[in-house]
Amino acid sequence: MSTTSTPLAGGPALGLICRACKTTYPLIAQHACWECFGPLEVDYDSTALAEVTREEIESGPNNMWRYASLLPVGKDPKTRVTLNPGMTPLIRADNLADELGMKRLWVKDDSANPSHSFKDRVVSVALTAAAGLGFDQYACASTGNLANSVAAHAARAGVPSTVFIPDDLEPGKVVTTAVYGGRLVAIKGSYDDVNRLCAQLSETDAFDNTAFVNVNVRPYYAEGSKTLGYEVAEQLGWHIPGQVVVPMASGELLTKIDKAFSELVAIGLIDDPQPHAVFGAQSRGCNPISTAFHSSDEIVPVKPTGIAKSLNIGDPAAGVYAIESVRATGGSMADVTDDEIRDGIRLLARTTGVFAETAGGVVVACLRKLLREGKLDPDVETVIYNTGDGLKTLDAVHGEPTHHIKPNLAGAKEAGLLG
Ligand SMILES: *Cc1c(COP(=O)(O)O)cnc(C)c1O
Repeated sequence: MSTTSTPLAGGPALGLICRACKTTYPLIAQHACWECFGPLEVDYDSTALAEVTREEIESGPNNMWRYASLLPVGKDPKTRVTLNPGMTPLIRADNLADELGMKRLWVKDDSANPSHSFKDRVVSVALTAAAGLGFDQYACASTGNLANSVAAHAARAGVPSTVFIPDDLEPGKVVTTAVYGGRLVAIKGSYDDVNRLCAQLSETDAFDNTAFVNVNVRPYYAEGSKTLGYEVAEQLGWHIPGQVVVPMASGELLTKIDKAFSELVAIGLIDDPQPHAVFGAQSRGCNPISTAFHSSDEIVPVKPTGIAKSLNIGDPAAGVYAIESVRATGGSMADVTDDEIRDGIRLLARTTGVFAETAGGVVVACLRKLLREGKLDPDVETVIYNTGDGLKTLDAVHGEPTHHIKPNLAGAKEAGLLG
């Protein structure tokens, strides 16, 4: 099929390809294969990718679009629908490493993005593709952070949006979506119900001109996650860490970080290519990928519970591919309880100054568990991903003043503050 037949042609992307049966499609708004119903992903021209240089990237803007030559859309800045996320801090976490008995540990803190989660990366790519394909309304099915990001991007672009969420979302995530205006539809059901309804709505006439970022333009959306791999490698001086720990909802982010590292090696941008082991993190309340990894590799959908709501996808679309990535790289998976997640949030905050949302707590708790189980090597350089901001999930942890005192020195003395 010809790629010149779609408005998105011209970049390094050749088209879409079915992850299962490898049938190819042009760059259109389509997420499932017509032949086998497998998920579609973006297929690149490896010669075009091989032309990308470090100099080109380093002279780009100080945001995710410095990697535009490695993305399906957005090479021309005028075409971008974006809040310009990315180039978030990579923090050397020596105190945390000491507590855990590790040698070199980093936290990639993606809460520093404009709407305070990594979802700004995927939404920027999805909506840039959507605009290029002629959609004039934006929508999504969200576990929370995607809702924030789509509403914020739509507001900046001046485009109407409809965001669909489960009606038990954290109040912090509801406010931080509603504030941008746009329609916000709470559905009596789980994220999986929300997602199913969005798939049905996207087929109706009323939503004919609507891009659902994680439904009909999902292949583009997914590619935005690659920038979390590129950035870590560049920030480490064009070097890939030996181990990474990644939170999993659909499992997509994990597969794309793995893909990004492999691409950089294939293109020749890494001087000292070394194997990278990818580790997946889930909560006990929603652990279909981790459970499958530790049993038959067969994903059995679950009904999600627990505080890590941003990861609560019971029927994960990229679960089997996440398992593939983890097996192929020699990593592992873990899942942790709500109490362990709360402890993880506190441990990260106390040792790094980063206040993570529950998904970050999941990652830190899984890191600790994987170390304890001997699956993750404490001597190998490790990067853990914090994908969201603790201020959005305040209900997950409690905090109180350590002292209550009278407003004078006597009060301070009474409380023992003067020794
Ligand atoms: C959406 C999300 C993820 C995981 O995304 P998938 O690609 O679906 O696995 C991780 N962390 C946070 C905070 C998220 O909002």
